[in-house]
Amino acid sequence: MLKVYKYRIYPNASQRQAFTSHFGCVRWVYNWALERRQSHYEEKNTTLSRRELQDELVALKKKLSWLRNVNIQSLLATLINFDIAYKRFFKKQAKFPRFKSKYDGRQSYQCPQHVELDVDNKLINLPKIKCIKIKLHRKFLGEIKTCTVSRTPTQKYYISILVSTPETEPVAYKVVPDKTLGIDLGIKDFVITSSGDKEPNHKYLYKSQRRLKSAQRKFFKKVKGSSNRAKARNKVAKVYEKLTNQRRDRAHKVSARLVYKSHDTSFAIEDLNVQGMMKNHKLAKAIGDCGWHFFIKALQYKSRWSGKNVIMIDRWFPSSKTCSQCSNVKAKLSLSTRTYECEQCDMVMDRDVNAAINIKKVALLQIGPGRPECKPVDHAMAGTAVSSLVTHGAKQEAATRA
Ligand SMILES: [Zn+2]
Repeated sequence: MLKVYKYRIYPNASQRQAFTSHFGCVRWVYNWALERRQSHYEEKNTTLSRRELQDELVALKKKLSWLRNVNIQSLLATLINFDIAYKRFFKKQAKFPRFKSKYDGRQSYQCPQHVELDVDNKLINLPKIKCIKIKLHRKFLGEIKTCTVSRTPTQKYYISILVSTPETEPVAYKVVPDKTLGIDLGIKDFVITSSGDKEPNHKYLYKSQRRLKSAQRKFFKKVKGSSNRAKARNKVAKVYEKLTNQRRDRAHKVSARLVYKSHDTSFAIEDLNVQGMMKNHKLAKAIGDCGWHFFIKALQYKSRWSGKNVIMIDRWFPSSKTCSQCSNVKAKLSLSTRTYECEQCDMVMDRDVNAAINIKKVALLQIGPGRPECKPVDHAMAGTAVSSLVTHGAKQEAATRA
């Protein structure tokens, strides 16, 4: 089974400098590849293959001395990532790859090989950068496949290690109706289940959101290029990091409770195309602030590790407007209406619980005998970071821009 473990690392000044060169060089290679492919297409109307790009890059490396100071494997991994991003665009799975900037908040690069961990001395060795202090807050068993080094906007360094563990993936439970839980994601309450449980949206999150807004306002008021603006940018990054950590923490706690502490073996949830919703939905702000996406990912990979199922239901199913008892669909249901009252069968129920029950029903129909082709577990969605690394380790083909 492939698992990703993430650790904080504490590079010294010269190691930090080496990381900066690596971030810079992989960024340069990505942008170079994008530019090469675009200009080649304009001139010759054909696409440069990854192989051709790779040969050009190897030749370039001999000429450009500054490229020699970084790990060649990392540069080649970048080309693979670029190629995947490019192909994803043509498969209509992603936007066209954009040029990367050193002002992008998070910087990262991959080490596909030759990573050694010295557990006793709490050090990690990467190609070209040795003896980096690492905080091993949890142990793992297995063989290291690949690593990704990243730096946050607040200048913290992390390493994500993809490990091939000796455990085998558990066989998934059969989906049975009385052990399936419908989950609705809301704004007033974060999570509402078909059995009536609710996880409220906590006050501390609102507090952090307010802090973030105020920091952003101050940032935009500062003169461009000034040192005050740089200071304000750091402030925004810090507040943002805190809010993200709070959301992640909550996502982990709620998903852990659902997966590890409940008797339910399948979870039904709406496949939120949050990005699409954010474009044209009045609730854009609230949705952007909820951290649903991260929660779904956490629920998926925890379920996968314990043999439980996550059933994603169709994106635009009107779960709130439908009566869970008689399937009558209301023409209108305003957000302020907290209770669902059915005009056909007289059912009265909390609106979110009604929605969660509908989600469960639809999921069970979806995987029922009528639709045998539907897989109950959506492994492909099990976390962008995880799945991209998994692909990378397995096939040496990775896509990461998480
Ligand atoms: Zn009804």
